[in-house]
Amino acid sequence: MKYNIRKFVIIVYKCQLCLFSLLIAFTITYNMVNKHILVTGGAGFIGSHLCQNLLNHDNVVFCMDNFITGNYENISKMLSNPKFKLIECDVEQLCDFDAKIDEIYNLACPASPIHYQKDPIKTFTTSIQGAYNMLELSRKYDAKILQASTSEVYGDPIIHPQKENYWGNVNPVGIRACYDEGKRGAETMFMDFYRQHDVRIKIIRIFNTYGPNMHPCDGRVVSNFIMQALSNKDITIYGTGLQSRSFQYIDNLIEGMVKIMATGDDVIGPVNLGNPTEYTILDLAKSIIELTNSRSKLIFVSLPLDDPRRRKPDITLAHNLIGYNPNIELIEGLKKTIAYFQHFK
Ligand code: NAD
Ligand code: UDP
Repeated sequence: MKYNIRKFVIIVYKCQLCLFSLLIAFTITYNMVNKHILVTGGAGFIGSHLCQNLLNHDNVVFCMDNFITGNYENISKMLSNPKFKLIECDVEQLCDFDAKIDEIYNLACPASPIHYQKDPIKTFTTSIQGAYNMLELSRKYDAKILQASTSEVYGDPIIHPQKENYWGNVNPVGIRACYDEGKRGAETMFMDFYRQHDVRIKIIRIFNTYGPNMHPCDGRVVSNFIMQALSNKDITIYGTGLQSRSFQYIDNLIEGMVKIMATGDDVIGPVNLGNPTEYTILDLAKSIIELTNSRSKLIFVSLPLDDPRRRKPDITLAHNLIGYNPNIELIEGLKKTIAYFQHFK
């Protein structure tokens, strides 16, 4: 009897050890495979694609958004996924959000000139206070943090194409400054958290990006022209249409963002992410008319103040760091985007 009890105790002890080891193994595996990632601005155009990509790779995704320009439609398919957590919150408030996270992508900020100029003070504080709050959060949890900066930090560039070491030509008191200087200020804050607190930062400068999930009333050139062409309305060319932009399809950007996040702590940026093929706005309009078989006519209206005349990224750095190769041509990307916008006709 005494012998049996001893045997029983040993078996129970071994089982407990076994269970404990299993638990540790599970926790390690879970934390290795499933990163906990916060995406601010996750219900917007770029953010929603990023959230989906991160979920596809089995991560737990916290999407923080105040829906100022984002929308539920963009995230509706993800809402039923238990690994997707929506936090309806302004990045300036943080709303008591406090979870152990491994990575932060800071995207929260309206990106279309008509939207960011609607409430310029809010645009500016979103960039600055939002960056500060996210940097403090990443400092607390030693999380890597990536800032979605912009080609707008180069302003109306005098150097062409734009390399990361170009300091830009921004009008600090103009109508675009709330966005341009907000983003420049956020870059400054990122660099200072890196130098002062060793926060693991990454800064990317995104050039004009387009694709499905852009809001039909977003106001940016690709969505405007497609919506106008699909309904045979006049295509609004601002100025002469000879100003240029370089358009990157969303899938290429998302791949680049995720790869930059995965680089070692020595890679801090800033790094340009964009498609270097340059088009005039007139060429873009003509391509969209052709692809949609539209009867739209071109009309010329006044050019907004401080509208940059040329823009084209030098992507040598991104190519060297992550083999960045934005290989989706404009026509191919436009076809996919037009198919998406058909629903809103
Ligand atoms: P978007 O307007 O579609 O998305 C921005 C998202 O941020 C929206 O969901 C909006 O509701 C949210 N947001 C705004 N202010 C917020 C706040 N205070 N708190 C919480 N959420 C807030 O724009 P997008 O094109 O997806 O741009 C995303 C990011 O990428 C922006 O930071 C933008 O500056 C940057 N970027 C975009 C482009 C581009 O071509 N799309 C180019 C350069 C940089
Ligand atoms: N643009 C235009 N018609 C429109 C919307 C924009 O001609 O209906 C022009 C705008 O003046 C700019 C370019 O297209 O020169 C890109 O504008 P967008 O707002 O998309 O991006 P950003 O100016 O921020 O690069």
